[in-house]
This record gives sequence, C-alpha cells and structure tokens, in this order.
Amino acid sequence: MKRIDPPAIDDIEELTLLANNEGLGSYPGLMNEYSGFLSQYNEYSKSGGNPWNIVPLTISDHLKKALRTHYGSPPEGRLQFIKNYRRGLSPTLCLMCGGFGNGTLDHYLPKEDFPEYSFFSKNLVPACNCNSLRGRTVKGAAPPARVIHPYYDDFLADRLYQAVFQGEFSAPSISIEIIDKNHPKFDILKFHLDEVIKNDSTQGWFEKYWSDLSQRPHDKLELVLPLSSQDLSAADLKVALERYRNHMDKDHDTPNNWLSIFYTGLMRDHDRLDQLAAVINSNR
Ligand SMILES: [Zn+2]
Repeated sequence: MKRIDPPAIDDIEELTLLANNEGLGSYPGLMNEYSGFLSQYNEYSKSGGNPWNIVPLTISDHLKKALRTHYGSPPEGRLQFIKNYRRGLSPTLCLMCGGFGNGTLDHYLPKEDFPEYSFFSKNLVPACNCNSLRGRTVKGAAPPARVIHPYYDDFLADRLYQAVFQGEFSAPSISIEIIDKNHPKFDILKFHLDEVIKNDSTQGWFEKYWSDLSQRPHDKLELVLPLSSQDLSAADLKVALERYRNHMDKDHDTPNNWLSIFYTGLMRDHDRLDQLAAVINSNR
C-alpha cells in the first residue's frame, strides 16, 4: 500500500473526444449519457471514490460493453495514460496490497458495477494479482468499511500493519494485524486487510521470507549487522532490524510495504529475536 498522487489526466477531455466519435461502438450511447458521466466524475473527485457515496449510473448493456472495450483496447490515439499507468506509475510496488509485484491495473470501483469509471484515470490503480483475488469487492456490510484508495487516503502515510509470529521457530504461523486498535480508520483498515492484503499469495511470501531469514539471517542481514565478531544480543539485532526496516520504508517510499510489515512485527517478538541472534552467532 502506498499513497501517491495520480498523474494529472484531463478525464473530461478524454470523455468528450470519445463521446463525439461517431466511429465508435459507444456512439451515440455515450453522448446521450454525457451529462450523467460528468456528474459521476465530479462526485468521484469530491468523495475520493468512496463507494458509500457513489450510486452507479444505470446504463444499457450495450454501452457497458462498449466502455469496457475502450478500456481493454483504447481507440487510436486515445486513453494513452492507461498504458503508461501500467508501465510507469508504480513498477516495483503494488499500491493496493504493499507487495512487490505489479503489472495489472485495478479498477478501484469495479468496472462491472460502476461501468462509468471503466477508463476514469482516478479509478485506475497499478496493482499485483491481489487485484483479481479481490474481485468486485469494494465495501463491507456497513459504512465506513471499504477498500483503501491509494490516491485519496492520506492515512497511508501512517504505519498501519505488522506481522504476528506464533508457534515454533522454524515454521511459525504468520498473520498480519492492525498496529493501532484505536486508529480512527480502523474499520477501513480491517476491511482492507481482510479483502485485499490477506490471500494465499501474501501468505506464501511471508512464509518464504521467514523461512529464508531464519535459516540464513547472517546472509540476509549482512549489510546491517555490526561488523564486530562479538556475540550479537537480541537488543543489538533489534537495532539492526530497525535500520533495515527504515531503509525499506525509504526505498519504497511507504511504511506499508511487505518488508516494513514483516520487520515491524518481528522487532516486537523478543523470543524470536533471541533465537535469530543465536543462529547469527553460530555462523560468525
Ligand atoms: Zn497487490
């Protein structure tokens, strides 16, 4: 997860050019709905895409299909930003879940349910495969539960999540929790955790990372461990991990990337730090 400003795209200009193009399948449907689209775009910008504030526009199946086609294969010279978003907006980090994959664009408000935002730039967010795993889910049973929006939710600058390790050293069960149980956006953080972050692919990454770290901590942490050959204490290790974690925050420009989540949780687990320090000392 990461808060970024979306590039300044003139969505109204894009809409106007598409609506006026008589050669497209969306003509004249889009022209007929033009004012409805304008007010939907306006509402989105005003409410930050909040699914609790936005009522989808009712449009024909024919027009829905044409809009999805515009997104999937934009007409010549139009909607160029879609390609650029995919390639350049966040190539190394998923803005939605904080993982290190990417390559797809997530429709924050799903295009099946909100077709008017199929090619609205502020509704398109670079993401990894958490995108297809979340499917059409965007809000919970009651407000304010909803998915976090990387273009509007400033609280993404806070450190929000940490890993929790339970059970044996070599193969613990690892989960992710919200750090501040009194966070003013707790319901949103919880919904986002359950619906976007938690999935098999996230679980697999955390387990593999722990497996590698617990077996070869001296290799993984070589650059941050003190050079002295004296035995390392759990407290020394914690200092080194904090430096590493802070470096990862800066490197990815967010305290909510998966390495931040992993190390923030590990730093609070003193027993595990003791055991990890013992592995390091046995290899010095
Ligand atoms: Zn993701």
